[in-house]
Amino acid sequence: MKFLCIECDRQMAFAERELPGDGTLAAVFACPACGRSVAMLTNPMETQLVSSLGVQIGGRTVPEQPFELTRSAVAGGREDAFAEEAPKAAGAGRPVWDDAAKERLGRVPSFVRGMVQRIYADYAAERSIAVITPEVMDTARRELGLEGM
Ligand SMILES: [Zn+2]
Repeated sequence: MKFLCIECDRQMAFAERELPGDGTLAAVFACPACGRSVAMLTNPMETQLVSSLGVQIGGRTVPEQPFELTRSAVAGGREDAFAEEAPKAAGAGRPVWDDAAKERLGRVPSFVRGMVQRIYADYAAERSIAVITPEVMDTARRELGLEGM
């Protein structure tokens, strides 16, 4: 990931980074020629995406997060890679999706579906929620700050 200063046609240099620990990430890049700067803010989900792609920010890779399924699926570029969890991952302790929740998940664009599915499943598992319903998804969105996703 790089930022270019359009005016100067120069690559912006990394200036500052914050990983506050709540999953959000802020990075500032400045143009070495004119000093114009740009800040990048990501929410926890986007931070996971960035780190899962191994993007280097400020000369350091964002700390690894448990996201191997998405990473390998992205690398493979398979359109349907996120359609279902791998059977072995659906075993003990993983919540199940009711029909309405499955239908709603089905409306998520396929390239982020696996990621969204994982976030909700982790959310439910951490709270010992056995069945994911649309109501659980709504609550998770509110609590995780994913409105608009
Ligand atoms: Zn510039």
